[in-house]
Amino acid sequence: MAKIIKLHTKESYDTPSTECSICRCNFNPDAEGGLCGSLGILPVQFCPTCLSGIISMVEFLWDKRDEDGKFKISDDDENK
Ligand SMILES: [Zn+2]
Repeated sequence: MAKIIKLHTKESYDTPSTECSICRCNFNPDAEGGLCGSLGILPVQFCPTCLSGIISMVEFLWDKRDEDGKFKISDDDENK
């Protein structure tokens, strides 16, 4: 059982099961962690493993920004 909360309206509802949008495993956000929300109008759910991977990717890319805030990954970085 997972509770979905719409951040703007504070409306909430329960779902019987939650499937990760990336790896398709079933998980319980209340018991295991993870994240349920939306990217624009697209509802997404991330299991703890995929959420951890997303956070690691963002942390990696965050350090690769140029002065304009754009992500710069050189060919050298992709081969590491
Ligand atoms: Zn996953």
